[in-house]
Amino acid sequence: MSLDVLVKKAARILRGAKYTVVLTGAGISTESGIPDFRSPGTGLWEKEDPAGFTIDSFCGDPRAFYRRILPLLRLIEQALPNEGHKSLALLEGSGMVKAVITQNIDGLHQAAGSARVFEVHGSFKKGTCLSCHKKHNLALLAVALERGEEPACLACGGAVKPDVILFGEELPPAFQLAQREALKCDCMLVVGSSLQVAPVGYLPRYSKNLLIINRGNTPYDDLARVVINQPAGEVLPLLVAELGLQNFLW
Ligand code: NAD
Repeated sequence: MSLDVLVKKAARILRGAKYTVVLTGAGISTESGIPDFRSPGTGLWEKEDPAGFTIDSFCGDPRAFYRRILPLLRLIEQALPNEGHKSLALLEGSGMVKAVITQNIDGLHQAAGSARVFEVHGSFKKGTCLSCHKKHNLALLAVALERGEEPACLACGGAVKPDVILFGEELPPAFQLAQREALKCDCMLVVGSSLQVAPVGYLPRYSKNLLIINRGNTPYDDLARVVINQPAGEVLPLLVAELGLQNFLW
């Protein structure tokens, strides 16, 4: 099926749905210059060992942990939302999308204007002191680290952990809310996720009408009504145009 036919079919399903929820992953932000984890050749896991991103590795040596994440922190700080993020914000503004569940930690959905965003893996914008619970701006902490200072709490000197969910940690309350959204929806649009990270990767199983926009394959492709293996930043504006929302302002 051609891209045009697939976009028209996806638009038809979205028009007929009563409650559409979007689930995004790192793939929606690659066109903003942030690499994902699993794309062959460019994914972060080709260079980094996932074992370095556990809660134990953070607690064992926070300074070494920050040195590992500094390049990603810098990329996220400088990244801007792309046409994919903006299109999803337009879809929400028009009422066609009710919520965005995201595994991303980059804050780009909010920067694009999405309002109901459930960050199920936390956010890389802030960090919390594990001793006194003071909140810190991670970008400022990164500056301190680059100057050779300790990435420590200014109030008590404790270790400041980024507000992201590391391997070995429980998911935040946002995950329960996201699960409720997934149970409520009659249509789920997955964008830029390999759907390999549990338990978030299980959420599409609740949806009657599943649409997937992802460059690579996912374990749910056979269950989806539409699968488009093209860049999200190109496909989502086409979908918005097909729905007649390109000039929608909110
Ligand atoms: P993943 O790396 O497992 O999968 C990304 C998927 O996106 C791949 O299947 C790839 O083919 C596809 N993709 C890449 N670029 C695309 C594009 N332009 N358009 C459409 N599809 C594209 O990522 P995941 O499923 O999100 O799960 C892994 C974890 O990655 C999450 O826990 C998330 O927290 C973390 N992560 C987040 C960021 C970020 O916040 N931007 C960056 C890296 C990793």
